[in-house]
Amino acid sequence: NQSANPIKRVNQAIVAYASEKQREIDELKKLEVFRREFIADISHELKTPIFAAQGFVLTLLEGAVDDENVRYKFLNKAAKSLEGLNLLVQDLLTLSQIESGDIVMQFENFDMQELTKEVFEQLEEKAQKKDISLIINYLGVDGVIVNADYSKIMQVMTNLINNGIKYGKEGGKVEVEFIKEEGYVTIFVKDDGHGIAKEHLKRIFERFYRVEKSRSRQQGGTGLGLAIVKHILQKHNTEIQVSSEVGKGTAFSFKLKSANASLVSNISTQAKI
Ligand code: ADP
Repeated sequence: NQSANPIKRVNQAIVAYASEKQREIDELKKLEVFRREFIADISHELKTPIFAAQGFVLTLLEGAVDDENVRYKFLNKAAKSLEGLNLLVQDLLTLSQIESGDIVMQFENFDMQELTKEVFEQLEEKAQKKDISLIINYLGVDGVIVNADYSKIMQVMTNLINNGIKYGKEGGKVEVEFIKEEGYVTIFVKDDGHGIAKEHLKRIFERFYRVEKSRSRQQGGTGLGLAIVKHILQKHNTEIQVSSEVGKGTAFSFKLKSANASLVSNISTQAKI
């Protein structure tokens, strides 16, 4: 629809150029708002454990230090707050490294069953405290070999299984299930815990989004676990799915390429409880 009139053509080009520039400016403005909000969020999250630790130490300095019981209790609480701060900084670093592209995924072949057993070992004590059983549900006889970044998928599984324990009910279970299909494996992490209401489901992968702040903090949550999961899986060209029912439980699932399978991109899956 170009005009034959040269002046009109120049005008059209200028209008197109201006609207392209406007789009770029809008994009930059959005990024700037996002950056400001992110810094505000981080500052707020950092303040919480710092203020708590400071409060316990100051109370001790003001005299509570003389009572041995109180001293022990307050030092313990200060140490817990500092541990929370440490976890938060670690998660923030992980997230920013993955997002900035500083970390390149190291693809290799490994068995998802072996990886899951290792994660179970690390989380066994935590699960036992709530009498939660950790179960692998896989009927196949041979391994579940995938091609992915081992340590990053270890982090994904740790975050999902850890959440299953944190938000699981006493005496419940966290089950990991594998389903092999042509070219890829679907991995499910299911629990029979509190569940997540529908209105929260689509937001739980946002940074610092928590359904119940107090429950998350009490469990040592940073609010970044699922954001990290989402980003790691994006770097694997795949995505995380979730389905949940309040009072019944939650199921997360994702697909990974089988070893030696031809490239499967943007594979998606729907989790079921
Ligand atoms: P957090 O450190 O708070 O656990 P996550 O990013 O891992 O942060 O999860 C975000 C929120 O999603 C949690 O605060 C919790 O409310 C909810 N959530 C995550 N996993 C589960 C689960 N398995 N069952 C119930 N709620 C969950």
